[in-house]
Amino acid sequence: MSYQTDAYQDLRDAVRDLCNTFPAEYWRKVDEARGYPEQFVDALTKAGWLAALIPQEYGGSGLGLTEASVIMEEINRTGGNSGACHGQMYNMGTLLRHGSDEQKQLYLPKIASGELRLQSMGVTEPTTGTDTTKIKTVAVKKGDRYVVNGQKVWISRIQHSDLMILLARTTPLDQVKKKSEGMSIFLVDLKSAIGKGMEVRPILNMVNHETNELFFDNLEIPAENLIGEEGKGFKYILDGLNAERTLIAAECIGDGYWFIDKAAQYAKERIVFDRPIGMNQGVQFPIADSYIELEAANLMRFKACELFDAHQPCGAEANMAKFLAAKASWEAANVCLQTHGGFGFACEYDVERKFRETRLYQVAPISTNLIYSYVAEHVLGLPRSF
Ligand SMILES: Cc1cc2nc3c(=O)[nH]c(=O)nc-3n(C[C@H](O)[C@H](O)[C@H](O)COP(=O)(O)OP(=O)(O)OC[C@H]3O[C@@H](n4cnc5c(N)ncnc54)[C@H](O)[C@@H]3O)c2cc1C
Repeated sequence: MSYQTDAYQDLRDAVRDLCNTFPAEYWRKVDEARGYPEQFVDALTKAGWLAALIPQEYGGSGLGLTEASVIMEEINRTGGNSGACHGQMYNMGTLLRHGSDEQKQLYLPKIASGELRLQSMGVTEPTTGTDTTKIKTVAVKKGDRYVVNGQKVWISRIQHSDLMILLARTTPLDQVKKKSEGMSIFLVDLKSAIGKGMEVRPILNMVNHETNELFFDNLEIPAENLIGEEGKGFKYILDGLNAERTLIAAECIGDGYWFIDKAAQYAKERIVFDRPIGMNQGVQFPIADSYIELEAANLMRFKACELFDAHQPCGAEANMAKFLAAKASWEAANVCLQTHGGFGFACEYDVERKFRETRLYQVAPISTNLIYSYVAEHVLGLPRSF
């Protein structure tokens, strides 16, 4: 499939040029080694793409979410995996929106240059899962420090980050009026935390996505690392979700185009029964179907971006974009694998790798059911179920 041109063509070309210097073989090797695409992330950082959303006054490029989403899309569209570094693009949003001037001056320029990586965000816990307001990790203020105890799970990119945004309860649940109150956000300096109150255990998983269990045993965090006001952390986390969801939708769109390209190409070349398999409508139609679904999802992704960049409410659109794009990319993945027959399972075709990678997005960072729930309650006004 030839790329259609759009208003972002120059940006697409520039990102694609960089990505093309990291061919499929590179990503295959990183996947086989369960490694980290260090060279790729370095190149992307040096070129400034991960600092797209950081305002120019802090050394970033001050682009909108639309442009940032094009960057993420292109990485996945050229066969890469932005999951290795997407946190660096959006985790700083919490600091940007709610940090003090001092914190912003201290951290944002270094995050923009890549001197500091803020790739990790610690929210999910093993015993509470999606029910975030029940988190059990606590931070208790003692003089000029907070002392943290508890546990997190599925916290990504810790080994490749300098900083982590951490959500912990600072007022016990039974002492707050609303369950969403009493949680706070901290910036954790990982190098000084690991082995000194924080233990990290990697979780081997289906994708080459570096993610971990974290154990906190009297981890001390300087009080000045609290972001914003104590007790408002849950609201701050929610404020960042629209950007995160929309960027991940764009990654799924990139995956979807990659699968469709790959499937269409193979269907034209593979000869069985003396003709290209793509001559059979049984092979053509599923590819056409997933292309139609993907194009529709892409419209919702751009609608979410447009609203976000115009500072309009976009919770529903960001959630729906993530839902539609994750669904479309997963359908395209299935079609692509099916089109390749047995060869879809061979690592050298990259289909099985991308198939695993794109599957994640129906579970993380928010599962499909929770998006249904959001739309049912917040858009359609149905009664709360939890
Ligand atoms: C590879 C990977 C990387 C991740 N990275 C991070 C990270 O960096 N930081 C972080 O904080 N988290 C991270 N996560 C966690 C991720 O956000 C959660 O896995 C996800 O939000 C789902 O939560 P859970 O796994 O606890 O599922 P659960 O909450 O246990 O839910 C299990 C299933 O039940 C469904 N379900 C639960 N309650 C309801 C209900 N009331 N109605 C209908 N259905 C329901 C869910 O939709 C889901 O399908 C990561 C996860 C993975 C797999």
